[in-house]
Amino acid sequence: MTLTITKIAEDLAAGRCSSREIVDDLLVRIKAHSALNAFISVDEDAARQGAEAADRARRAGAGVLAGVPIAHKDIFCTSGVKTTCGSRMLADFVPPYDATVVEKMKAAGCVMVGKTNMDEFAMGSSNETSFFGPVRNPWDPQRVPGGSSGGSAAAVAARLVPGATGTDTGGSIRQPAALCGITGLKPSYGRVSRYGLIAFASSLDQAGPLAQSAADCAHLLSAMAGFDVRDATSLDVPVPDYAATLGKDLKGLRIGVVKEHFAQGVEPAVLDVLREALREYERQGAVLVDVSLPNSAHAVPCYYVLAPAEASSNLARYDGVRYGFRAAEYKDLEDMYKKTRSEGFGPEVKRRIMIGTYALSAGYYDAYYLKALKLRRLIADDFARAFERCDVLAGPASPSTAFALGAKNTDPVSMYLNDIFTIPVNLAGLPALSMPAGFVGGLPVGMQLIGRYLDEARLLNVAHRFQEVTDWHARVPAGI
Ligand code: GLN
Repeated sequence: MTLTITKIAEDLAAGRCSSREIVDDLLVRIKAHSALNAFISVDEDAARQGAEAADRARRAGAGVLAGVPIAHKDIFCTSGVKTTCGSRMLADFVPPYDATVVEKMKAAGCVMVGKTNMDEFAMGSSNETSFFGPVRNPWDPQRVPGGSSGGSAAAVAARLVPGATGTDTGGSIRQPAALCGITGLKPSYGRVSRYGLIAFASSLDQAGPLAQSAADCAHLLSAMAGFDVRDATSLDVPVPDYAATLGKDLKGLRIGVVKEHFAQGVEPAVLDVLREALREYERQGAVLVDVSLPNSAHAVPCYYVLAPAEASSNLARYDGVRYGFRAAEYKDLEDMYKKTRSEGFGPEVKRRIMIGTYALSAGYYDAYYLKALKLRRLIADDFARAFERCDVLAGPASPSTAFALGAKNTDPVSMYLNDIFTIPVNLAGLPALSMPAGFVGGLPVGMQLIGRYLDEARLLNVAHRFQEVTDWHARVPAGI
């Protein structure tokens, strides 16, 4: 069972099946694979009703996504539907409104079947920081799916939904897409509204699609992107019909091969897979150009000052007063704050709040926060220079294939290094995707393609052309 969004849309349009039938089928699959722990909540009745409404709307004439089932990462506020952000702090939080992404996808006719598991407040690379327990990788349940959008990635890889939303602050769409063998795109900063998206690090957070193929991601991105007056950083430019621009040939396309990304620290077998993928691009007429991003070596430390700094500020709102968790027993107001935050947040979130608060404190602001901002500029300048000589950049999305559950969660630094190739892209605000490029030891390998600002259409086309001549993206884990 490998129904893609493209295929479902065709079948629905041709009247070969109904959205209700597809949703019924997926609900059975979701139950059968509940051990993956990909979902935090599934509302079967609401999903069935949504499907029936979409079927009725389709008869009256509707868009390509009408009736297509999807899941939302549990970081997107959904009106009347519990939104936990993977945290005890919000375990019972029911938002009174929809995030713009949710609203737009509803308007496009997508049917939400559930909310997916995630690292707590999107902090993590393995989905092990979720209050609701780890997600398992469909390719090997003893391994992590990646994080923080691990529930969305596992759900798509296990064919529990044909597409899902995720968010990417430092790699949280691309790294789990890579580890689960699916396609995931982080749009340019500003392309998709952050309104109603629970904030982690606001200058880096960006929502995007995860699906089986670039063509499917194209449909989802067209539905979710666009200007929103409620997000001051959203960009007021038209949204292309991304699916309609697929299919251009790649003759003369200049692919930048980042020297630092094909170096020590990456599993050699992963690099072999990527080199073979690059040869496929050469066969299609692309030319490879050597480029360097010298400052990207500083991206992880830079990110781990800026992201926690922003997080410490964003997470100050969880104080037990307005909404969310409140400790049961306390002496006075200050004690209530302390107990609420001590009991409501998990260890990784507390670590980030402490790092961020320290970095922003009066005596250290210049030494850490300001310095990290300067580095951020240097990293962005590296990309600008590279893009003078090439059209896209290619390299690994992650230094290794999926690792074992528990292998890295006692060593934060080794966990943080998972995002060494994805983080620079967020710091520069650029679009990038990960797509399946092959396998090592039965586990998927993701290739990252990075584009110029707002060049999502080209990225999707470059991935699509690869997927027309390879079938890595169509492989399904054993038992699925
Ligand atoms: N793994 C990175 C972190 O823990 C990135 C997370 C993300 O993109 N949300 O911060």
